[in-house]
Amino acid sequence: MSTLFSANLGYPRIGENREWKRVLEAFWGGKIEESELLESTKKIRLSHLSIQRELGIQSIPVNDFSLYDHMLDMSFMFGLIPERFGSSGNEPTLEQYFAMARGNSSAAACEMTKWFNTNYHYIVPELGQRQPILTVNRPLQAYLEAKQELGIEGRPVIVGPYTFVKLSKGYQPEETDSIIKQLIPVYGQVLRELQDAGVKWVQIDEPSLVTTMSDQDMERVEHIYAALRQEAPSLNLMLQTYFDAVEHYERVAALPVDGIGLDFVYGRSGNLKALEQFGFPQDKVLGAGVIDGRGIWRADLAGELELLEEIFQRVSQERVIIQPSCSLLHVPVSKKGEQKLEPVLLEALSFAQEKLYEISVLKKAIDEGRDTVLDELTAAQSAVSRLNQSTHRKKIHVQQRVKNRSKEKSSRDSAFEIRSAQQQEKWKLPLLPTTTIGSFPQTTEVRKARQSWRKGEWSAERYQQFIQEEISKWIVLQEKIGLDVLVHGEFERTDMVEFFGEKLGGFAFTSGGWVQSYGSRCVKPPVIYGDVEFLEPMTTEETVYAQSLTQKPVKGMLTGPLTILNWSFVRNDIPREETAFQIAFALREEIEALEQAGIEMIQVDEPALREGLPLKKSRHQFYLDQAVLAFKLSTSTVRDTTQIHTHMCYCEFHDIIDSIRALDADVISIETSRSHGELVSHFEDHTYDLGIGLGMYDIHSPRVPSVEEMISMMDRALSVLDPKLFWINPDCGLKTRGLEETVASLRNMVKAAEIYREKF
Ligand code: GLN
Ligand code: ZN
Repeated sequence: MSTLFSANLGYPRIGENREWKRVLEAFWGGKIEESELLESTKKIRLSHLSIQRELGIQSIPVNDFSLYDHMLDMSFMFGLIPERFGSSGNEPTLEQYFAMARGNSSAAACEMTKWFNTNYHYIVPELGQRQPILTVNRPLQAYLEAKQELGIEGRPVIVGPYTFVKLSKGYQPEETDSIIKQLIPVYGQVLRELQDAGVKWVQIDEPSLVTTMSDQDMERVEHIYAALRQEAPSLNLMLQTYFDAVEHYERVAALPVDGIGLDFVYGRSGNLKALEQFGFPQDKVLGAGVIDGRGIWRADLAGELELLEEIFQRVSQERVIIQPSCSLLHVPVSKKGEQKLEPVLLEALSFAQEKLYEISVLKKAIDEGRDTVLDELTAAQSAVSRLNQSTHRKKIHVQQRVKNRSKEKSSRDSAFEIRSAQQQEKWKLPLLPTTTIGSFPQTTEVRKARQSWRKGEWSAERYQQFIQEEISKWIVLQEKIGLDVLVHGEFERTDMVEFFGEKLGGFAFTSGGWVQSYGSRCVKPPVIYGDVEFLEPMTTEETVYAQSLTQKPVKGMLTGPLTILNWSFVRNDIPREETAFQIAFALREEIEALEQAGIEMIQVDEPALREGLPLKKSRHQFYLDQAVLAFKLSTSTVRDTTQIHTHMCYCEFHDIIDSIRALDADVISIETSRSHGELVSHFEDHTYDLGIGLGMYDIHSPRVPSVEEMISMMDRALSVLDPKLFWINPDCGLKTRGLEETVASLRNMVKAAEIYREKF
């Protein structure tokens, strides 16, 4: 039997100790020169290649490394530098590269948005301003570097034309074909040069092939690949898909490429079914993504071997490559440094390096027989089952509650009209009430205080006292500013998910589990590894304290179930929605505790609700229904007079408006200011009949908005929304702002509301 190949699709850029982040930031801070940046990042890059080789990976990706983002690399390579960053000639500079990513004194940065349904953000290419040209062939450079420095025959990775165009902006839908036409020759040139340099395989990432696609789009894909085939007839093209099953399998399988990579983790059933129904072309190799590239759980290798056996029934073994389901960009580098985690959890984790090892074990099991890796198979199986059998995953009361959720209360006692009348009776708020979204500036002082407490230099009492001082300072300020509904300010929270994760059962925190979020910014998502349970009140103390200082209502502030879910690493042994329901019930207890403690306005933030939308439209409704149910399970047991708020920081509202309405929150505040016109015009033909606040100003900038501009925002909003339901608030929390600008902006906002009220 001939041997199997193993491949990786992309390696994390950040380095084992985030050294990549440090050099980048040192460069931006003017502490090192460009030459040092390039030299240091080269070292990092080469060390990543060596590690992959040591771990036994045969087909190692190159050009997966980036100084910021791989989509930006593509734009940059094609000279697609937006005009505001100056003319680039044929050689755009590193300065322009980073200016596109981060903005400079004269030009705003390019937009950044989420890479499919991951928490990685890419820089959105702006097409339509310049003709694409090939500036430097980056994949070729990366290939030559790996070959010359390490003797590694790398597999250059690029983002394919279809995905590149789909994820870009700056053109109208009817211009799609002409944009593609411009890009094909430059893509062609990249591939031709690779072919001429002796490259064997190129990995062309086309994750957009798993999203819902029209027939016309599929024709475009066929056109693109027919053209690229001609450009580089003897280069092996691996068309790589991931994150779900491919949409038009039969047609994708027929494309003139040499290999197709499929995700058998997130697209497992769809891709397996397609293989079964349509078979796999005899002249292509299959990249079998069997190891989860974006989850952190150790694979049950024996189970994966069964999956591979199933695949071998459709595709002969010598044409299968074992690989992760997607680039390992989305998981932390290695679990080596984790010392504080409980063994039962630690044993069940697998980060990038461990995943590559798993791939090597699978390969060996098939090449040399299972017996040669029995120990590894047993170890994997028992690690997975030990965690599954542990008390963390056997909290019967939590599981029962989720199972019997249909018997639990999931709607308020009365309809909104009745509740809102009672709430008005109780609160007697003015027309157009003013409020904020929750957080106030987290100054260095606040962060230092928290660190001192965490390090043990400050006692818990001292820290608590410090937090109370901040709260009372801001209660006084909010009263002075004249806001109607106050908040405590969230000074005790580092992050809106971590804070709750640390207090709920079932969560763990790694010490080094960083992943790249965007640019040099890394996040360390909490790990939900057990049944999630409420242990004790999490927010009552600070909220009640704040309320004790004022006659005005203080809003309690919680993070919603879907946001906690979508910003964490989630278990893979139960469906995602079950974890969401577990969180929902835990939050219900918190909400009940707040209400009992006299807090009767409670905001449940869901800024990441939309982020969990599946890639396929056919699954949107299911996700949204579960999301709505989770929110309502949390928020429905309160009295009619208790006012539930929610907040979302995106304005793409139109396609999910019915679900947002179905949350039945008494008040919603939404980020608006950056695309005000769009959102407001949406309400022209869709009535929204619950309380709603459209963000009056952008909190991402230190600029203080004037009274007049906010009045004109209100004018437009109130031309389509009912003033009796309208709230006045900023776009989002004010955590990242300075004190003075915050006070000045809120003063203007309150003033604008006061002026506006006169009109009625
Ligand atoms: N309540 C949170 C805050 O004010 C909301 C943050 C968010 O929407 N991302 O910071
Ligand atoms: Zn927000």
